[in-house]
Amino acid sequence: MTTALAPSSALSAADRCDRCGAQAYVRVTLTSGGELLFCAHHGREHSEKLRDIAITIHDETGRLEATPTVTVDDER
Ligand SMILES: [Zn+2]
Repeated sequence: MTTALAPSSALSAADRCDRCGAQAYVRVTLTSGGELLFCAHHGREHSEKLRDIAITIHDETGRLEATPTVTVDDER
């Protein structure tokens, strides 16, 4: 008895960018049936092209902004 993974299941720390090996925040399902994983940087870099070849783009880059690592307080 197995539970099928939902196609839109959340990305985990084990998912890695196909380009650089960083943690993946974007999952792209291609019209060909394949799947690509990108970090926030490469997801953004390829987003224009991906829109042409992807069925769905699952984007979790918003989670990055929700996790502040640096406090920027020198705006003046
Ligand atoms: Zn990357």
